[in-house]
Amino acid sequence: MKKKPTLVLYHPLMAVEGYPVLAGRVQPALDYLRDSGTLETTQVILEEAPRVGEDLLLQVHTPDHIQHVRRSGYDSASLVSGGSAVRAGEAVWIGEAANAFAFTGCAGHHASRGSSWGFCYYNNSALLVRNLQHMHGVNRFFIVDTDPHPGDGTRDVLGDDEGVYHLNFEASFRESLDTVTHRHVDVPFPSSSSDDSFVEAVRRLALPWARRIRPEMILWNMGHDAHALDYGGFNLSLRAFPAMTDILMQAAEEVCEGRLVVLLSGGSEVSVAKHAISGIVRKLAGLPQLSEDVQDEPTTESAETKRMGEDVIEKIRSKMGLDDPI
Ligand SMILES: [Zn+2]
Repeated sequence: MKKKPTLVLYHPLMAVEGYPVLAGRVQPALDYLRDSGTLETTQVILEEAPRVGEDLLLQVHTPDHIQHVRRSGYDSASLVSGGSAVRAGEAVWIGEAANAFAFTGCAGHHASRGSSWGFCYYNNSALLVRNLQHMHGVNRFFIVDTDPHPGDGTRDVLGDDEGVYHLNFEASFRESLDTVTHRHVDVPFPSSSSDDSFVEAVRRLALPWARRIRPEMILWNMGHDAHALDYGGFNLSLRAFPAMTDILMQAAEEVCEGRLVVLLSGGSEVSVAKHAISGIVRKLAGLPQLSEDVQDEPTTESAETKRMGEDVIEKIRSKMGLDDPI
């Protein structure tokens, strides 16, 4: 049987009217996908993201917040960012695509029901989830957030939802979330950790938890502000992004027929965006990696940082009862 394609969602307004820190990266990243031949393969389909509708917005946000976004100047970019996520989720659920990558012009994970901060206006993950719940009866979602900033808005909107499981990595800020329950796990990880340690942490938590939860879809909130050259708190090289894609694809293959949707979150460095996004999209599509996309050296860490990271993961695995071999 022919493998289904990977869907890439984009809208020109993301680059023109998106939040300034985030907007400058998206057009170069899309151009690079085109120039490197990725969009010309039959395994990848590019589609223009629609605007998310008012009814769906009201299922996630308060009317006051929607009015606030309308006055912010980022309304159009926020609507196509939400629409990008919603369409990605729907296409993967109904089987038009094997998996999907959703570009955004405004990020989503700091958008709560009635407020938002940090380049976010509408919660893209929550819009995807509410749409599939109400239109298609999908009930179990696993959201993995590896952006180095906390997914506080996602927790606010979806935290009470019995069918949503949230694995939230964050660089160890003072204001880090600090929860380990049967549905919410915060991972305050050392910001100076190496690629190997970070990717291993994702593997040791996301894989066994996905096997336990058995979600119907996995969402990955992917911020390349986690790259050492970008503005966020982690210390990753380009190599970490396809490596994490491999892990989450494996989890999705094992538990939900490969249904994985990647949502673009933070990050502003154009050179990082181009290669991190290309590495992820090519993995999703089963295409070989380009040498330029893994060109930087793997990051390293001190023995102390390595030990701190291992301690965090072992403590969380122990609290979660994840003692199964990986
Ligand atoms: Zn971030």
